[in-house]
Amino acid sequence: MQLYNTLSAKERAALIEEAGKERLTISFYQYAHIVNTSIFRNHLFIHWDALEVLGRIYVAHEGINAQLSVPAENFEAFKAHLDSISFLKGVRLNIAVEQDNMSFLKLKVKVRHKIVADGLNDASFDVTNKGVHANAMEFNALIEDPDTVLVDMRNHYESEIGHFENAITPDVDTFRDSLDIIEKDLADHKEDKKLVMYCTGGIRCEKASAYYKHKGFKQVYQLEGGIIEYAKQVESQKLENKFKGKNFVFDSRLGERISDDVIASCHQCGQPCDEHVNCVNDACHLLFIQCEVCSEKMNYCCSDNCKEVHELTFEEQKALRRGKTVSNKIFKKGRSEVLKFKK
Ligand SMILES: [Zn+2]
Ligand SMILES: [Zn+2]
Repeated sequence: MQLYNTLSAKERAALIEEAGKERLTISFYQYAHIVNTSIFRNHLFIHWDALEVLGRIYVAHEGINAQLSVPAENFEAFKAHLDSISFLKGVRLNIAVEQDNMSFLKLKVKVRHKIVADGLNDASFDVTNKGVHANAMEFNALIEDPDTVLVDMRNHYESEIGHFENAITPDVDTFRDSLDIIEKDLADHKEDKKLVMYCTGGIRCEKASAYYKHKGFKQVYQLEGGIIEYAKQVESQKLENKFKGKNFVFDSRLGERISDDVIASCHQCGQPCDEHVNCVNDACHLLFIQCEVCSEKMNYCCSDNCKEVHELTFEEQKALRRGKTVSNKIFKKGRSEVLKFKK
């Protein structure tokens, strides 16, 4: 995946040239105060539909979160439209030139309560009053500072396979839990310590930094663009890479390798491994770490029970599920009593 920060006119021209008749897959987010979300939603839909934009866009009072694709030839017009909206002018776009032109089939712009499900009460603080953005070089310097407390704002199954050296990695299932734990742990250091945060692509830190400022932390920093942008800058600027292992991502790959270190272990045998899989039993789909040897042995399942079910015929499986509510393990990412080696 190629990621671009703010593109110069020349870089944009090269990008469009390279893509030819292809579509460009783009993601971006911005926290802002959007008063009339329906009007804003309709405004986007009318303009973007005309530019043949496809994708899934969430609009809320707190901002916008967009995953979309646009024909390369319409990119300039799309960019011009973004720049015509005050809070989206110059917004950082993550652009992937993909062979797959089928990433989105429709344009869906939805009004939502939140752009990220975070369990926070909006009215209590200003989400646009965010922390200081640090690029990769500034971030490396910040985390060397003895007065810095570095916090990973992601969930346990994400930091398990990769994180920055010396980061606090809360053992949490949700963003909301993380916020409370960190606040409690650092309650005595609201003024003297630099609170430095990071997440996958920046969207969670953007909110967390505003939250902590609201809670009285004086020096709040965040890694701009998250681990994704950090990895790109480390490579292009030949910086020291302080991230160890893999960056968990939410598409079918489940992780992008950032360094050669394997910091996790197979949840079934304990051998070094950082490959996330989903249990293939359709009634389970538990997310966990499984090495190749265990995949073979367990037929890609998380447990003997799932293996037995998975090896039944489709009709037998259906009969087994009849009358039962679907297992909720799908939501228990990486946690189950069957995983012996999950720390
Ligand atoms: Zn194993
Ligand atoms: Zn299973």
